[in-house]
Amino acid sequence: MRLYNTLTKQVEELEPIDPGTVTVYSCGPTVYRYVHVGNLRTFLLSDVLRRSLELEGRGVRLVINITDVGHMTDEVSDAGRDRMDLSVQDEGLPPDAIAEKYANAFFEDVDLIGIRRAEAYPKATDHIAEMIELTERLIERGHAYVVGGSVYFDVHSFPGYGKLSGNTIENLRAGHRQIEHDPNKRHSEDFALWKEAGANRLMKWDSPWGPGFPGWHIECSAMSMKHLGERFDIHIGGTDLRFPHHEDEIAQSEGAVGHQVVNLWVHTGFLNMSGLKMSKSRGNVLRIGDLVEEFGVDPLSFRYLCFQTRYRSEMDFSPDALRAADKTVKRIRQRMTEWAGESGEGLSPAAKELDARFREALADDLDLPTAVTVLSEAVGSADVSGADKFRLLSEWDSVLGLDLQREVGAGALPDDVQALARERDEARAAKDFAKSDELRDRLTGMGYEVMDSAEGTKVRRRL
Ligand code: AMP
Ligand code: ZN
Repeated sequence: MRLYNTLTKQVEELEPIDPGTVTVYSCGPTVYRYVHVGNLRTFLLSDVLRRSLELEGRGVRLVINITDVGHMTDEVSDAGRDRMDLSVQDEGLPPDAIAEKYANAFFEDVDLIGIRRAEAYPKATDHIAEMIELTERLIERGHAYVVGGSVYFDVHSFPGYGKLSGNTIENLRAGHRQIEHDPNKRHSEDFALWKEAGANRLMKWDSPWGPGFPGWHIECSAMSMKHLGERFDIHIGGTDLRFPHHEDEIAQSEGAVGHQVVNLWVHTGFLNMSGLKMSKSRGNVLRIGDLVEEFGVDPLSFRYLCFQTRYRSEMDFSPDALRAADKTVKRIRQRMTEWAGESGEGLSPAAKELDARFREALADDLDLPTAVTVLSEAVGSADVSGADKFRLLSEWDSVLGLDLQREVGAGALPDDVQALARERDEARAAKDFAKSDELRDRLTGMGYEVMDSAEGTKVRRRL
C-alpha cells in the first residue's frame, strides 16, 4: 500500500510499525449537530483504507474519536463558550443528551453508507484525566506555561512547529490570534491546552489549574496515544484539519513523548456544493437521508459516487452524477443475479489480470477512480465468464461495500433459510462461534452456500 503523506509531501510505501497490524486514527464527528455527506466522504476514506488493507491480508486497528467537548467559538473573554454549550441552549437538552443524540445519528448515517464499525470510538469527555496528564507533562518539559487558570503551548519551544502545514510561525500567527485571543499569552501564536472556565461555562472539570476545560487539539493527542500507543501508523482527517488541529497535535504529542508519533498523515479533499465547501456554518449541507429522500437513491450509491473522484481532490456534489451512480450500482446488482447461476472452476487469465489491476489501483494511494473503471471493464468484458465476474465482484465488494450480492437469490430464499441466516448473524455478533458454525453446517446441508460479508451472512443456493 502506497499513500500520499502530507508530512513529507510524497507518496510513500506504508511500512507498519507492527507488520501484522496497521494502526489508524481518524478525527471523528463533533456531536453537537448531524454529520453531513461532506463529513461522510472523509469517514468513508478510513473505511476504504481499512477494507483495502484487509484485502491485502493485513490486520487493522482503527480508532475514531467522538468530539463531545472542546470546540470553542468565542474566546475573547474567559467566558469562552463551547459549541456544545450553544446547542444545549438551542435544544434545551443537557450536554450528555446532546452528545448521545448526535453520536447515535452519526452511527445511523455511517451504517447507511456501509462504513464498518471501528475498533473504538473514544469520547473526549471520558479522557479529561489523560488530557490533564499530557498538559502536565508538557509543562514539565518546558513546552507549556500557565497563565491564571489556563495553560498554553509555547510554539517557539517546538522547533518543528509548522512542518505539517508548511507554514512559518509568522504565517500561523494570524490564525491563532483570532481563535485564541488572550492578552496574557507569551506569543499570540500560542494555543490553549487548558482553558479557565468562565461563569457561563456549562461543561467544566477540576484541574491543577482550577475549574476549566480542554482545548480542542489536546483531545486527539491524548486519545490517539492512549488507544494506539506512542507510535502509530496513519492519522486521517479532512484537509481543513491540517492547521491548526493536526499541526498542534504533532507539537503536543511529540513535545510530550520526545519522538515522532504518527508516520503518515492522510488528508481528504472537500466535498463541495456549487464550488463551496459543504459546511454547517455555510448552511449548504445535505445529510445522507436527504439524498435518499430527495433523489430516491440507495444510500450506498453515494459510496460509488465518492469512488469516482480521487480522495485528495475536491469533489463537487452533483445530483445527476449521484443518480447515474445509483443506476450503475443497481444494474451491477442485477447482473450479479445472472452470473450467480453460472458455474466455473478457478479464475481465467483474463479475470486474474483484472483482479491484479483492481488490487494495484487500491495499493496506488487508494486510486478508486481506476478501481471502478476496472470494475466496469469486468462487468462488460466479453473475455471473462459470468462465473468469474461473480467471483471477482464478490471479492472486490469486500472493499467497495456496495452490497453487490443484494439481489442474488433475494426473495427466492425460503423463509426458514433466511431465518437461519439471521440467527447465524446473531450468534456471530454474540461471538458464539460454535453455534454460528453449526448453523452454517445446517444451511450447507440444506443445499446452500454460506458466505461471510461485511453486511453479514450471505446465502445462495449451491450451483
Ligand atoms: P468536524 O465534525 O467538523 O470536525 O468534521 C469531521 C470530519 O469531516 C473532519 O475530518 C473534517 O475535516 C471533515 N470535513 C468537514 N467538512 C468536510 C467537507 N465538506 N468535505 C470533506 N470532509 C469534510
Ligand atoms: Zn482530531
